[in-house]
Amino acid sequence: MKEIQVITGCMFAGKTTELINRLRATNDNYLLVKPVIDNRDSENIVCTHDGVEEKAIRVHKISDVFTLLSNIQVVGIDEAQFFRTSIIQDLHYLKEKNIKIIIAGLEKDYLNKPFKSMTQIISMSDSVVRLKAICNNCGKDATCSHRKNTASKQQLLIGAENFYEALCEECFNNSI
Ligand SMILES: [Zn+2]
Repeated sequence: MKEIQVITGCMFAGKTTELINRLRATNDNYLLVKPVIDNRDSENIVCTHDGVEEKAIRVHKISDVFTLLSNIQVVGIDEAQFFRTSIIQDLHYLKEKNIKIIIAGLEKDYLNKPFKSMTQIISMSDSVVRLKAICNNCGKDATCSHRKNTASKQQLLIGAENFYEALCEECFNNSI
């Protein structure tokens, strides 16, 4: 059985960059997928905050790429928190097919509450790396994604610098 690696943490922690680096470092054929819900990037490209780009297939669910795996040994998944919890079944399927899976996703939402699908993914993974960002307020290690615009209360508000900032726990707690 191949392993499941998870790269998680708050926003602006470099999760996507780490995912792309790990995919590019492999000698195997890989496929990068991301959820359709993420409209920050142009079609079929994953773009990191520091400008690195990689081709990706936009899907509603991971099983949408099951027909494309004949020559693939590694599947990378970006923004995994946006997939429904059916992603768990799909990951089991990939594992049974002997495919290595590298997953990047936000562990917690803007209220510091865990994303359900990520909690389950982490519990079935073989390795977890929690990356940290830099606090936008004090410069210490940041682990929280803070929503600057609190007008919207939905968990899945898509956006980057205009809506969110990384904060350390202390600054985050002071901000709410
Ligand atoms: Zn701080």
